[in-house]
Amino acid sequence: MRLDKLVATTLGRTRSQVRKLLQDGAITVNGAKATSGKKHVDPQQDVISAFGDELHYESKRYLMLNKPAGVISATTDPQQQTVLSLLPESARKGIFPVGRLDKDTTGLLLLTNDGHFAHQLMSPKKHVAKTYRALVAGTVTAQICSQFSAGLTLRTGEVTRPAQLTLLKGNVPTGKSSVQIVIVEGKYHQIKRMFGAVGMKVLQLQRCAIGQLQLDPQLKAGQVRALTPAELALFK
Ligand code: URA
Repeated sequence: MRLDKLVATTLGRTRSQVRKLLQDGAITVNGAKATSGKKHVDPQQDVISAFGDELHYESKRYLMLNKPAGVISATTDPQQQTVLSLLPESARKGIFPVGRLDKDTTGLLLLTNDGHFAHQLMSPKKHVAKTYRALVAGTVTAQICSQFSAGLTLRTGEVTRPAQLTLLKGNVPTGKSSVQIVIVEGKYHQIKRMFGAVGMKVLQLQRCAIGQLQLDPQLKAGQVRALTPAELALFK
């Protein structure tokens, strides 16, 4: 990558500020003063310093995890297994989950070291749609679907934004309903509490999409892969 880009990103400076640093001889590459920002450097191989301090360039990483049940959406925990433990130790530095899924919820969870990206996705103002599949005890009626789409009052008195609840056909155990639900916010235990508000219990919950990004069906529970450029572009 270009030297000026690396210095600008790691120091949080503009390109013109970096030009000035280069003119002042403040930047070295492998011990030699650098004068041109156009120079190409390899952040893995070259030692780049500003005012004598080595710069550590961290490229942005975006990962898709198929979260298994039983792990928590945190970076560290003294007792419980976290989603980060599913990454090789060498790949964990600076990585954190984008939002959270409950310990027993499975499916699509993004991991990144890009705080801005995470904020864009989690900000309540952005209303990014999250799609889930759930197995619930009891029968989901058309009236319950209407209640979800009108916005529900939770037991705490909070009112949810309209959510789209669709009954899924197929092999559903008797006395249970299989549903798809799309919500545009991320309140604590939101889906479980929405069903609680209509007197129903969620038995299984899986997130299958965030915005247009679908959980890769090839990804087994516990597996992680990098987002492709096309997938990442869905959020730009
Ligand atoms: N809603 C819930 O109740 N739990 C989750 O993990 C996600 C959404």
